Amino acid sequence: MALYPCDIGAHRYAGPQQTIYPALVSGGWSDRRKLRLCPTHFDALLETCEERCIDANDTAGPPPQLGCVSCGAFDTPISFGFYATVYPMRQERRDFWGSVHEKCASAFCADWGLDLSADIDPDQYPPQLAPMRPGQPR
Ligand SMILES: [Zn+2]
Ligand SMILES: [Zn+2]
Repeated sequence: MALYPCDIGAHRYAGPQQTIYPALVSGGWSDRRKLRLCPTHFDALLETCEERCIDANDTAGPPPQLGCVSCGAFDTPISFGFYATVYPMRQERRDFWGSVHEKCASAFCADWGLDLSADIDPDQYPPQLAPMRPGQPR
């Protein structure tokens, strides 16, 4: 029985809880989450990883071309790096990495429970060293 509501949509569910740790990074900015997920949302996000990210443990063959995790397109520039650690039931953890367009970042964050406006912890980043926030005019 699940003890927590699913972190995508905050709905209750039956079945095992599985966890994904997604992170979106750009320069010194990042937002990281722990997502406790229902089976449906877990499968959906894992499928996105398998289709659009590089599996960090799959080193056979040439490196695949990497499109945007959100829209799947291969055009550049791609401004955000994406990392996900996935813990499927009774299986080894899996690590993925990918990239996301700046224009797709808001939609991507909505899908993954991330927050594009999350503030950098000022204790970790003194103001004079704070890196450029994504979305700011350059
Ligand atoms: Zn769910
Ligand atoms: Zn995109």
